[in-house]
Amino acid sequence: MYRTHTCGELRAANVNETVTLAGWVQKVRNLGAMTFIDLRDRYGITQIVVEEHSDEATKAAAAKLGREYVLQVTGKVIERESKNPKIPTGDIEVAATALTILNEAQTPPFTIEEVSDGGDDLRMKYRYLDLRRPPLQRAMILRHKMAQSIRRFLDSEGFLEIETPYLVGSTPEGARDFVVPSRMNPNQFYALPQSPQTLKQLLMVAGYDKYFQIVRCFRDEDLRADRQPEFTQIDCEMSFVEQEDVINVFERWAKYMFKDVLGIEFTEPFRRMPWIEAMEKYGSDKPDLRFGMEFADITDLAKGHGFSVFDDAEYICGFAATGCATYTRKQIDALTDYVKRPQVGAKGLIWIRVEEAGIKSSIDKFYSPEEVRAMAEKCGAKAGDMVFILCGKKFKALTQLCALRLEVAQQLGLRDPKKFAPLWVVDFPMFEWDDETERFYAMHHPFTSPKPEDVEYLESDPGRVRANAYDFVCNGTEIGGGSIRIHDAQLQATIFKCLGFTPEKAQEQFGFLMNAFKFGAPPHGGLAFGFDRLCSLFGGVESIRDYIAFPKNNAGRDVMLDAPSTIDQSQLDELFLSLVKPE
Ligand code: ASP
Repeated sequence: MYRTHTCGELRAANVNETVTLAGWVQKVRNLGAMTFIDLRDRYGITQIVVEEHSDEATKAAAAKLGREYVLQVTGKVIERESKNPKIPTGDIEVAATALTILNEAQTPPFTIEEVSDGGDDLRMKYRYLDLRRPPLQRAMILRHKMAQSIRRFLDSEGFLEIETPYLVGSTPEGARDFVVPSRMNPNQFYALPQSPQTLKQLLMVAGYDKYFQIVRCFRDEDLRADRQPEFTQIDCEMSFVEQEDVINVFERWAKYMFKDVLGIEFTEPFRRMPWIEAMEKYGSDKPDLRFGMEFADITDLAKGHGFSVFDDAEYICGFAATGCATYTRKQIDALTDYVKRPQVGAKGLIWIRVEEAGIKSSIDKFYSPEEVRAMAEKCGAKAGDMVFILCGKKFKALTQLCALRLEVAQQLGLRDPKKFAPLWVVDFPMFEWDDETERFYAMHHPFTSPKPEDVEYLESDPGRVRANAYDFVCNGTEIGGGSIRIHDAQLQATIFKCLGFTPEKAQEQFGFLMNAFKFGAPPHGGLAFGFDRLCSLFGGVESIRDYIAFPKNNAGRDVMLDAPSTIDQSQLDELFLSLVKPE
């Protein structure tokens, strides 16, 4: 038997027991007469002591130890003289009677402790060492617990977990596909699923009315901090449901998760916010509701007073930054620089300082004090607040103001990761216009059904058609989203037409689904949650990487496995592939 207990298990009640532990050497302190060893496994750390009167073999083994050696220790649990209240095993130590070195270890390239001295790249390269650290262990354990909790809930609601294939054809989530060449079908390729969207819809046609899967999805996109080329979704679909039914089940699910995993109880229904309200009040379809600072439209008040910046703008909006009237010139300049960064893209920032003593602004030249006050009041400003105003094309200005609102909130410490503000964003537009390609794209995906009352505008005014689509948002992040699907072949054909698919192209890409719909498709709908993101939300950490055992870096590389990599000529030949050097 390698061990009788884990390194996190022993307490004062175990004193006098003879135990065997196995783990990694975190630290060795040699104090001449005595040697102290911190032995670690994923359950904790136990202090081992090798005493002066220990036998020679034990002392000799202790003298050889280095960091991360794999060690087996047998000894007696004794009460510690100086207790360590910071760790659960801090009342005891194990007086070693036998030390067996199970394996030696090279000195690790960084410290394996709560906070490591290793940089990102190094820790990614040696991910298996980084995973030994407590923060990553906590992340992996949280992820596991959440997966169990999800399965428990969905099982109790009658959902079936059904796997769908990874080697499929193109699936429509608006990203690029990862493709896999087929050896048995020369010159043909599988695409890895961007999501199991079409497959789960086929499961509905097949009569499996409540489906779920914790499933990997693959999207070849440019990566950002919180994106990975492969990520995990909690994917769900239901038959004979309307939007309200889906939202109800998954609101109950979300509340169950918050309670089960974090012990947080939400008694009130989650807020529902139409997309247009989210955009106009927060400049985002994933508003952070942990704090207020809502936007106001002051176009009418600000235009027509000879201030050309405003006069030329389509839309003028602002918000009152709570308690920021004390901001100095320097702080305002820094925020101005912030909104002017290319990522935000504003041209400048207008401010109104609201104080008990009076109001001052950067536009005093153009407006009377009453006019400035009216603008500040429309933005909800009280004495002590600072109003920030941006202008331009409506949705551009709103999005820019959103970036500023979040930045100010960050500075004010309002983005508390321990606080949760979940909501549903509903009534999304069906289509999104793209200026570059000059065509409409499906805001969700092409199987999303339009609101029945908007169907009449599909061909005449697609921009005003709203979808039966919904997002679950928390703390400024989209955690999940879904829709009621189209189950009518005729309507689906119309949508494909709006999206610029010729009937032939639609048939080629999605014929299998449209054909299936001819065999009795039930009304259905569903949604998917980003599991990695949900974990990072619950864990209170921005990056999803910490919750993925073996993530990729920003260039989509696995630096530990050194993938992607070249393959042998023989493999290429087998696949009938030849390579072209990039320019
Ligand atoms: N397949 C969708 C997505 O990946 C989710 C859904 O509509 O169920 O975003």
